[in-house]
Amino acid sequence: MSNDTIFDKILKKQIPAAVVYEDDQVLAFRDITPQAPTHVLVIPKLRWERFAHLADAQAADVGVFFQRVATVATSLGLDGSGYRVVINNGRDGQQTVEYLHAHILGGRALTWPPG
Ligand code: AMP
Repeated sequence: MSNDTIFDKILKKQIPAAVVYEDDQVLAFRDITPQAPTHVLVIPKLRWERFAHLADAQAADVGVFFQRVATVATSLGLDGSGYRVVINNGRDGQQTVEYLHAHILGGRALTWPPG
């Protein structure tokens, strides 16, 4: 039995995704249930289950991940209007997929505070 999450399967190309960016460090693809006109998920190819685990990661690897999130947002044309980056962590953070991912949300004025 595999413990692969849906994102492991997307990374292995076992299930399809609308990929917008890929390199040796990250994969970015459109969220299947978009919450904004642009809603893209960025996952690191180094596998961390959740944000909290970055505390034990190599700082350079963490830095590359966040740099790529910014690169993807720029490539989506969001720099001018702005956007939000969200990482849900654990139960109360409403994390539903146990594979670290950053949401990039843009294309409309987002409200604050989040629910
Ligand atoms: P989170 O609640 O932060 O764990 O976010 C998980 C996100 O993954 C949700 O926004 C889902 O809509 C999204 N999602 C789940 N399955 C897929 C899929 N097959 N392709 C793209 N996005 C997905």
